[in-house]
Parts: sequence; structure tokens; C-alpha cells
Amino acid sequence: MTTKYVFITGGVVSSLGKGITAGSVGTLLKKRGLKVSILKVDPYLNVDAGTMNPFQHGEVFVTDDGAETDLDLGHYERFIDETLGEKNSITTGKIYSSVIKRERRGDYLGGTVQVIPHITNDIQEKIIDAGKNLDVLIVEIGGTVGDIEGQPFLEAIRQMAVRVGRENVVYCHVTLIPWLEAAKELKTKPTQHSVQELRRIGILPNILVCRTSHPMDEAMKNKIALFCDVSKEAIIEVLDEKTIYNVPISLNKQGLDNLILKNLGLHCDVQPDLSDWLRVVDRYINPPEEVKIALVGKYVQHKDAYLSVVEALHHAGIARNVRVNIVSVESEDLEQPNANVAEILKFADGILIPGGFGNRGVEGMIEAVKYARENNVPLFGICLGMQMMAVEFARNVCKLNDANSQEMNPATLHPIIHLMHEQENLHELGGTMRLGAYPCDLVEGTRAAAAYGEMHISERHRHRYEFNNDYRERLENAGLKIAGICTGRNLVEIIELPNHIWYVGEQFHAELKSRPTRPHPLFDGFINASAIYMRGRK
Ligand code: GLN
Repeated sequence: MTTKYVFITGGVVSSLGKGITAGSVGTLLKKRGLKVSILKVDPYLNVDAGTMNPFQHGEVFVTDDGAETDLDLGHYERFIDETLGEKNSITTGKIYSSVIKRERRGDYLGGTVQVIPHITNDIQEKIIDAGKNLDVLIVEIGGTVGDIEGQPFLEAIRQMAVRVGRENVVYCHVTLIPWLEAAKELKTKPTQHSVQELRRIGILPNILVCRTSHPMDEAMKNKIALFCDVSKEAIIEVLDEKTIYNVPISLNKQGLDNLILKNLGLHCDVQPDLSDWLRVVDRYINPPEEVKIALVGKYVQHKDAYLSVVEALHHAGIARNVRVNIVSVESEDLEQPNANVAEILKFADGILIPGGFGNRGVEGMIEAVKYARENNVPLFGICLGMQMMAVEFARNVCKLNDANSQEMNPATLHPIIHLMHEQENLHELGGTMRLGAYPCDLVEGTRAAAAYGEMHISERHRHRYEFNNDYRERLENAGLKIAGICTGRNLVEIIELPNHIWYVGEQFHAELKSRPTRPHPLFDGFINASAIYMRGRK
């Protein structure tokens, strides 16, 4: 099988939605019957995203095989509904590590090791490896054309045309057509420059995806076609959308999938059936009711820090036909001495406490848990959120006043959440967590079992600390229900309160497996409970 490649580069500015473009192209090609996958190339020097601060780079997306990756992999999985892994993400750090390792081993037989050809070859090999057994591999190059770090990757994808044959690659450049308010017009010059930069490197883009806030007219498309040497029908416009899930629909209307197939010499008679996406968009835009969800976190200032959680909430809203209005609450605000927690949170039909690391803001999360538990407000805790639910329960119900997680207070008398013995001697921070998919057995008669509709599940993890089994009996005797246990490892994965409208905490990250057309059962259950709560208040 010859794998074909779609290379996606970006021009002018970052944050143009290349990841969403890549995901949307993937959706369209998959719906035309092709076997597709997507690879993200990140030109930064970190080996993976695991050690990156969510304030700088947004969430870390974790795959089944435990890779800590860029959040774009989350977009890809949501759009193409395929399970991705380690080989779908490469960084400069990863490439250099592998080349330097080989150099130390003497693999280069005394030769001078250079960016070209050694780094560029390694990049190409990793691309080819990710493309094995596929019809089409989409490769998104992070950053913007012209960045110093991106150059070896652009050189590598230029060479790919020589290596696998020009007829097997298509270059798609995502660019910005800015609107100048003073002149009241769109400007093409930045796009011309960024295409010139690509051509200087030796890449002639076949397709331009133009992000713009105003519709482009024919004259403008003609002008871009002329200056950028791209055929007019290959100039695709992407306007700002009410929801990212409309992007595949809009790209399909403009014929992008046909264009890619034509460029790659592929013949597919199957027209993509986009009815499920149309339904998603319709339900997202026009639901009859709204629930307000308080997202009580510590990274709420960064819009992408909880990206998958936000998307998963919307997926559940789409399924339940309610708009999910997510209101960020800075957890530190809830722990101020004069904070009126009930006043701050009274708007919420449901409270979600997401994952996080470190001490800051956790007492505020515990306040939010207490408020939700005592007032029968739907509560959903994820990872750190679940850990703080257990701590709150130990403190306020079991009266273990000093209860805490060892992460927050290593000397606590009651380490409800602790480091397991085998983890205690770890010194490096990179790659030392429980990462990736683990199986979990659910307990009969629990909310979790009812929500999933099955007894054995698999969910993704990213944490160091665990629920301390020494306290299990005590908490259970006080009414906490253990609803899920890691298969074969006796680790608590899900906690619940049976007499509460919805009090569910999970040690894993359910948000990572939610899809627009297939919400995650726990998010679905949480939004359903929040809608019931909202209706009850009216
Ligand atoms: N900081 C906690 C731990 O390491 C929770 C991690 C998370 O929420 N992802 O266990």
C-alpha cells in the first residue's frame, strides 16, 4: 500500500487553527472511506509536552499508550475518532535525542553528524513510520513558516516529495487574511510573503486555507492565485465559526476533500456522509435550554488549559440537547478568608473540578466540594478534583481534620492521597507518572456502572498520587462508595456518594475519550444531573 501525505504548514501568525484544519481534513478523508491518521510535529526542544506548564502551552493530552502530547492530538482524536499514540507526535527534542543516542553508539561510523541529512532523515523516517498501513497520513507542522526551529522539519517535508514521489504528497498552507479596520478591507500581502518564504525553502503549496473574519470575493481570490501560484479553486476560506465542528462541513462545501484527492491521484466515489456533524452543529447552536457549569480550577486564565474538559462538557450538552455555559471560577478565590463560597457558586447547576498539580488553590477546590456535597449540587471531580473530594470527605465527614494529599502536605497525619512505596525514590519529573490507559472494574449498582452500561472499562491516567487504601474502610463506613477499582492493582479509580444527585470523582481523565458524536458516559451523566438540577430550581 502506498501511503499518501498531506502536509499542513502555517503562515503569518500562530493560533490559526491548523490543528482543527488537520482534524477536519482527516474527518473528510475518513468519511470517504480512506484509512487516515494524523501526526503532529512540534519544533520545540522539549522531548514531550509532559513537563510543560499549562499556563504556557495549554493542556497536555495523554494517549492510550501513555504519551504526553500536544493538545492538537486531542483535536485529532475528536475529529477522526481514531486512537492515536506515541508515534503520532514528534518534537525537535525527540528527534535530537534519538540522533544523539545513535551518534554515541557509534552508528554513524565516524561521519560528521549534521542537521541535513541526519536530522532531516530521522524526521522522514518517523513520518514514514507513522504512515505505515494507512492510505493517507496528515502531518501538521507546528509553528509558523519562518521560525528558526521549524526549518529542519520544512526541509524534511520538502525532501519527502522526492523520496515518496511528488504525486503522493500535497502541501496545504494555512494562512491569515487580516481585515484592516481603517481601510475596511482584507489584505493579502502577509499571505503573499508567507508563501514566498515557503517557496524559498522549495515548497510550492498546492492549497491555501485562508483564515479570515470577512468573506473573500472573487477578485481577492484571483489576486492570491496570481501572486501565490495556486489555482483559484485551491483557495479555501475559513471564516470564524460558532463551533469548530462546523469546519469539516464548510471545507467540504468548498470542495477541499475533492481537491486533496485530485492532488494525490486518489479516486473515491463515496461522498462523505456528514449528517452526524450537521446534527452536532445544529444541537450546539440551537439547544432549547442551558445549564451553567462552574469549572473550579487553578489554570482558568489560560483558555486551553482545560481544553478536553471543555469539549467533553459540550459533547454531553449536544447529546442532552442543552447549551453548556461554562463559567470559570479561580479556585484561589474560594479560599480567601472573607470568601462567601455559597454566594460565588450559587449560579452553578453543576460543579466540575478538573486535574492539576501543586498546592496553589487546592483549599478552594475543597471548599467547592464541601458546598456541592452539602447542598446536593451535581459535582464531578477529575484526577486532582477526585483527590480533593476524598480529602474533603475525610476532613468533614470522617472528622480527620488534618487529612490531605501528600502532594500538598508531605507530613500530613492522614495521607488520604499518597505516593505508593514503589514511587518514592523517583527524582526526575519527566515520565514518572501513572500514564496512559489502565483497565478498571466497576462495582455493581453504582452510578458509574449504570452510566457506562458495562462493568469493565479502560481510561487514561496522568498522575503520581493515589487513593490510600489504608483509609478505604473508614471512608466507606462513613458512606463513600468505591465504584471502580484498577484491574489487578487494587487502586481506587472512582468514588461516589449514593444519596447525592451526582457526586462522582474519578482518578483518570474521562475527558480524553469523549467525542462530539459520542459523549463520555460520566460527562453525559453529570450534564444530565445538572439539567435535572437546573429544571428543579426553576
Ligand atoms: N497532582 C495529582 C497527582 O499527581 C493529580 C494529577 C492530575 O490531576 N492530573 O496525582
